Amino acid sequence: MHIGCHLSTSDGFLAMGQTALSIGADTFQFFTRNPRGSRARQIDPDDAQALMDFMKEHRFARIIAHAPYTLNPCSIDERTRQFALDTMKDDLQRMEFTPFQLYNFHPGSHTGQGIEKGIEEITKLLNSIITQAQSTTVLLETMAGKGTEVGSRFEELQAIIDGVELKDKIGVCMDTCHIFDAGYDIRDNWNGVLSEFDRIIGIGNLKAVHLNDSMNGLGSHKDRHQKIGEGSIGLEALRRIARTPELSGLPFCLETPNDLDGYRREIEMLSAQ
Ligand SMILES: [Zn+2]
Repeated sequence: MHIGCHLSTSDGFLAMGQTALSIGADTFQFFTRNPRGSRARQIDPDDAQALMDFMKEHRFARIIAHAPYTLNPCSIDERTRQFALDTMKDDLQRMEFTPFQLYNFHPGSHTGQGIEKGIEEITKLLNSIITQAQSTTVLLETMAGKGTEVGSRFEELQAIIDGVELKDKIGVCMDTCHIFDAGYDIRDNWNGVLSEFDRIIGIGNLKAVHLNDSMNGLGSHKDRHQKIGEGSIGLEALRRIARTPELSGLPFCLETPNDLDGYRREIEMLSAQ
């Protein structure tokens, strides 16, 4: 099992790898830029290469770059969609400094246009930014179904994947808090949920997991992350998920409300025999 957490990018790429290793992690996640979506900082190619070497040396799983969560690729507002497109396109170019990693984004909120129109806009955006030449796999994150969010049902994510032309460049990141809040009972029926995912999307398209407990109940559509073992999913279920043999090669990434020490303890708890 590969496990890590969300880290701050402030000291650069290699520093994130070193921080991850220091807390027992062998993967991590970071924001490609400020969550508000402002201009990204310049990438130092040597620093990026140093991280790649470090990850190889320490047998890291793939790392996850997270798009600003404020982007909305399926907004009713054309400028908002264009801003998401421009930002993601630029992110994908920057991702080539750290090739063959994962780029995760929130499919967005249809803001009243309806799920189908939302799916159409997201697909269109993906087809205009994903290129054959890129090494990065783009991931659709499973959502909690808050407001008009698209992607809280496996069927919706599959509909997007169906419309994407370059299918080897796209996959899914499953967030345990989000799918529990969306109504998938991963606490009492993890195997059932995973087979449903496999039937609708295909387990081979699952490329990463966000491992979070939830402050709210099954089907609450809330999206409030909780520390591992302190929410309504619970430690036992989250340990079972993290140890699923079919998912052993994937990065599991904590996005719980923690400082580094808290993350270190959660990694210990989840990986203890
Ligand atoms: Zn996310």
